[in-house]
Amino acid sequence: MNLAPYAAHPEKSRGRRYLESPPAYRTDYQRDRDRIIHSAAFRRLMYKTQVFVNHEGDHFRTRLTHSLEVAQIGRTIARSLALNEDLAEAIALAHDLGHTPFGHAGQEALDACMASFGGFEHNLQSLRVVDALEERYAAFPGLNLTFETREGILKHCSGAKARALGDVGKRFLEGTQPGLEAQVINLADAIAYNSHDIDDGLRAGLLTVEALETQDLFQDPYLEVLREHPKLAKRQVIHEVVRRIIHRQVVDLIEHSRRLIQEAAPADIEAVRKSPPLIAFSPAMETAHRALKRFLMDNLYRHYRVHRMNIKAKGVVKALFGAFFQDPRLLPESFGAKARDKDEAGRARVVADYIAGMTDRYALLEHARLFEPQSLT
Ligand code: MG
Repeated sequence: MNLAPYAAHPEKSRGRRYLESPPAYRTDYQRDRDRIIHSAAFRRLMYKTQVFVNHEGDHFRTRLTHSLEVAQIGRTIARSLALNEDLAEAIALAHDLGHTPFGHAGQEALDACMASFGGFEHNLQSLRVVDALEERYAAFPGLNLTFETREGILKHCSGAKARALGDVGKRFLEGTQPGLEAQVINLADAIAYNSHDIDDGLRAGLLTVEALETQDLFQDPYLEVLREHPKLAKRQVIHEVVRRIIHRQVVDLIEHSRRLIQEAAPADIEAVRKSPPLIAFSPAMETAHRALKRFLMDNLYRHYRVHRMNIKAKGVVKALFGAFFQDPRLLPESFGAKARDKDEAGRARVVADYIAGMTDRYALLEHARLFEPQSLT
């Protein structure tokens, strides 16, 4: 790998929380990525959704395919800027590990349940998964990832929470930036969901091409495709447009970031951390990107069919939380043991960890087991 001086260099890593000997045939960031892929939380992403619930169809994105798309987009950007592709990939694959079942509806419901006990933030939970909740290694809790991967996973965080997090929370108090690989994944995430939500939204019949034509980011490539391929089937037109939407954003991000990096000329990752953000869209793309995001918020995420699903999902999460919190003996033994002898806040956190780890279908199954008399055990 041909790394720029301002990239994350594994030999200069701030290291892991528990000292380990370096891997023989991999870099430390490759090891991080591999540990994430082998985690249980990663496998569960397959049955967690963001906007569409799993049973609606096999072609919709899940958190797993979303994470893979973020990794693909992030690696392209990282490589073209001579950044550390392995680190970018590790951050991308881990960035959504802390998500609850049922996407943002699940997260909002769990946050409300946890209001008196410190709240619930999915981003913080992703870090909690890799730092504490995964139980796979004899020598340490969690996955014991490098500082740079952990720094990249923690995208945002309130001041009060940051203080309790030690080294990795520090930048939120000091107002500094993470490394460039983390900045890349932050925007690769936004490129991925903006683009695939158009695809999924059209497939589900929640969005229409007519409504999307108000969006520059959609309209320009749409007219281009119709001009170049006037006889193309509608479904293929959409695929071609979505592909070009991703391409335009990626190219813009690479070119604008390259300029920002050249101007700031950071000597190393420490200088990057002290600079303003150096990975960014051009102002024109930033405007188009934000407009599309707002459009999707109003037309997709707030669509009445999505809203109905969200109301049901919130009901499931709240009912599960209420039942487990009131009577922790309902928890499976592994979580029940952790909840024992804890005060209220401690018990609530164990329940939140249990619920956050659930897939959509597992949450529905647990709900049936607890509340439907005809359901077995
Ligand atoms: Mg994401």
